[in-house]
Amino acid sequence: MSEDYRSMWAELGMDLAGHDALLGVLGKAYQDIYLFQKERPEGMAYFDFVMSEVHGLRIKELLDEKAAGRKIIGSYCVFVPEEIVLAANATLIGLCSGADFATEEVEKLLPRNTCALIKSAFGFKIGKVCPYLESADMIVGENTCDGKKKAYESLGDLVDNLYVMDLPQVKSINGRQLLKAEYLRFKTAVEDLTGVAITADSLRQAIRTVNAKRAAIHRLCALRKASPTPISGLDALLTNQVSFYDNPARFTASVNTICDELEQGIADNIGVFPAGTPRILIAGCPQAVPNWKLPMIVESAGAVIVGEESCVGERGTRNLTVESGQTIDEMLEAIVERYFQVDCAIFTPNQERLIHIEEMVAAYKADGVIHYGLQFCQPYLMESIPVEKALEEMNIPCLRIETDYSMEDMGQLKTRVEAFVEQITS
Ligand code: SF4
Ligand code: SF4
Repeated sequence: MSEDYRSMWAELGMDLAGHDALLGVLGKAYQDIYLFQKERPEGMAYFDFVMSEVHGLRIKELLDEKAAGRKIIGSYCVFVPEEIVLAANATLIGLCSGADFATEEVEKLLPRNTCALIKSAFGFKIGKVCPYLESADMIVGENTCDGKKKAYESLGDLVDNLYVMDLPQVKSINGRQLLKAEYLRFKTAVEDLTGVAITADSLRQAIRTVNAKRAAIHRLCALRKASPTPISGLDALLTNQVSFYDNPARFTASVNTICDELEQGIADNIGVFPAGTPRILIAGCPQAVPNWKLPMIVESAGAVIVGEESCVGERGTRNLTVESGQTIDEMLEAIVERYFQVDCAIFTPNQERLIHIEEMVAAYKADGVIHYGLQFCQPYLMESIPVEKALEEMNIPCLRIETDYSMEDMGQLKTRVEAFVEQITS
């Protein structure tokens, strides 16, 4: 990293020694996990570049945008509508993190039995090692699971720009009204922050931009249905992860470029894994950078991941917003309609998620499902039991994994995943 970046990080008030340590972990994980793959599409070079500059050039771009008057908004959940942020001429960045940091300090503020995702978010703030967090003009928390909603009460003491969005937990008429009311409140808050009044034109353009991004990801997902599979699960996950940081238009173009290449590969019957490789669907908690432990284990065990039922995956990206609205209210209705379909495990009942998993198994021709649950994540761990039961009734093998961000259970996970892959192969 250049000296320019070090002074940039220092100006953001970051802890440079801690940040060096984090970059070391990130770089090593990337080297070991991504660059070990032998067959990768050429188009992945763009995503490798983004990852290599994730705390460098991308932050500089954001700071240049800020200098020109644009605001940066950080979020921890796919319920925060990027359409509203873009329409007010601001940029939305995903803040979820996938590595342990400053655990001892975090456990002075949060119980030990809090999920790794929440602890990691706190660790990155306490350690001052995340340039996205440090450059955000507004940080949006949301009342989803109990862990998050209580944790934001403490996070509010660590940051002075926290905005908390209330979210429904039931897919009822009242729930939908709450989501609409909260999106209207958020629209006002974003307009106040930016000083930009959202217009029908700016909202229409923002909907198109976000739809184009999701449509590109849908195109990539559709190509993963082919056999042999043209892209590894690790690489597909990386593209999804990059969508939370990157400039939306550039991201869309890069995903479409890689799709062109993969379409040609499929036409030439070229895959990254041989035909007949066991196909796995991952379902469950989101996998934020650099939490690549499980996909690496699966794909080193001789299987290929063909889909992610996850917020860093199809739960977060499926469904486009209808573009036919003419007024701001019609467009907001369409946005509410789209987001209200997100089947996060915080909802009760949540039959839609089960149906979605079954649909994905069929669509991606998965031979088995691995349910990925973060330790202490009650919503997803509880749902993993009915998911397993429903899949068993369909004769689809399911492996329920409960893990965290540490590497201590690598050996045990490897043994279980290898046995599972053997089971679905025989
Ligand atoms: S799993 Fe639920 S709380 Fe987490 S990002 Fe997804 S929608 Fe938000
Ligand atoms: S992983 Fe589970 S417990 Fe953790 S923030 Fe997400 S929903 Fe909440």
